[in-house]
Amino acid sequence: MRTCDAVVVGAGFGGLGAAIALRELGYTDLLIVDREDGVGGTWHVNHYPGLAVDIASVTYSYSFAPNPHWSHVFARGPELKKYAEHVADTYDLRRHLRLGTTVLGAEWDAAAGRWVVRLDDGETVAARFLLTATGFLSQPKKPDIPGVDDFAGTVVHTAAWDDSYDAAGRRVAVIGTGATAVQLIPELARTAADLTVYQRTAIWVTPKLDGRIPKVVQRLFAKVPFTQRVARAANSAVLEVIMVVGVLNYRRAKLANKGAEVLARLHLRRQVRDRRTREALTPDYSFGCKRPTFSNDYYPAFNRDNVHLETARIDHIAADGIVTADGRKTQVDTLVLATGFDLWDTNFPAIPITGRDGLDLGTWWRDTRFQAYAGVTVPGFPNLISLNSPYSYNGLSYFSTIESQMRHMKRLIGELQRRGADTFEVTERANAAFLDRMTDLLGDSVFALGNCAPARSYYFNQHGDAALLRPTSTANGKREASGFPLSDYSFA
Ligand code: NAP
Repeated sequence: MRTCDAVVVGAGFGGLGAAIALRELGYTDLLIVDREDGVGGTWHVNHYPGLAVDIASVTYSYSFAPNPHWSHVFARGPELKKYAEHVADTYDLRRHLRLGTTVLGAEWDAAAGRWVVRLDDGETVAARFLLTATGFLSQPKKPDIPGVDDFAGTVVHTAAWDDSYDAAGRRVAVIGTGATAVQLIPELARTAADLTVYQRTAIWVTPKLDGRIPKVVQRLFAKVPFTQRVARAANSAVLEVIMVVGVLNYRRAKLANKGAEVLARLHLRRQVRDRRTREALTPDYSFGCKRPTFSNDYYPAFNRDNVHLETARIDHIAADGIVTADGRKTQVDTLVLATGFDLWDTNFPAIPITGRDGLDLGTWWRDTRFQAYAGVTVPGFPNLISLNSPYSYNGLSYFSTIESQMRHMKRLIGELQRRGADTFEVTERANAAFLDRMTDLLGDSVFALGNCAPARSYYFNQHGDAALLRPTSTANGKREASGFPLSDYSFA
């Protein structure tokens, strides 16, 4: 059986960051496994028209690997994919990659003190550490609408876009109005003969302060990196206010949250001419209950004659179109499923993981509650770093989460090395205290105090807990990642 220091599952930005941290800790025998055939995770998988990041790129990147050459304030999808390639090259991570390979499962072998990781290429690997960086939004969701398999035309999920598809002259239906649909709809609207958008829940959309970054600024960022750091700090501060004040601290800052709603309503009013369409596009839940988005061209698409907003419930899908509950059928030749991802049923965890005494992580999470100490480690699972865990997402930019987790790893595994120990495991006491604290803090958030019931937000799991986001400031997450009590872990 092949042995190595660590198996990292996932070659997106989380997995690449984890591998960089492990290299800094002195581990060189790493295996980074990804089921896809390239690095970049979500930015490798998603390539639908209009794909771009909606967190400004100065912030949506590693702070230790700034890219002075972002072409736009909000980089387009291909640029982020290129950045992931650049990071893999710069940090010499390619030699660890095993792409196009799926991890079937991992079991803790207590006698050997190793994770036994089974791959679909037939190999089994014994690793000292297992790090899962499988993303939050990595299991595409096919809607459970009757007849969806009977549709005779073209069917495409946004996470499996067919680049050769041309909407020109086609009658297209888009199901879903999440952040993905918001980017895709304006693109399809430009060429489709007819586009019907099936909206079940409206999304809050605020203006996107986007634009090209002039070459002179790019040169400044390259020559004087401090200037880009200042831009990052300023942008991160704004994101922090939106997140902490508007969402997490709703109890004390309801007005700020309402301010965001007002901004989105004004944006809608300015951009959509028809009053009834505006009403239909107005969410009926509090801002922040589900992820809002930013766009300047989503709403105007609904002013076009070839675009129709459909809010009647879909009853079923026929071979040649969509039938709504009121009996109307809209004939289409393309069905675009912008229906998002499954988090709580199939993604936590994304692979079967069996810890000490045969404990199955997925079963334990479902039978108790979704939980992970600092969003990173779980009692009963020694030497496991579970990067996409409940309460791990800290701040609006995923990179603040990644970098805090890298800090946590360095402190934890650094301590393991200092003690000359083989295994770490978070104590049940520390885990329970963390869960209690997160639960208490969530009591102040929009998830507990706002009107979230109509939102159908993927932030909430089957237990009714909004267990995705860490309800603290990113500064707190960062501070605790470098300073958590080492007594929260047992080392052996
Ligand atoms: P999503 O936010 O989960 O949206 C899925 C959409 O499909 C929702 O409107 C949902 O309606 C609808 N839907 C699902 N099943 C349905 C059914 N059976 N019948 C009718 N409608 C159905 O997924 P997403 O748009 O792919 O976005 C996922 C996340 O990806 C975002 O929240 C964001 O975090 C990330 N993202 C980020 C960017 C970026 O620029 N950074 C861009 C795109 C996506 P309901 O709301 O009623 O369930």
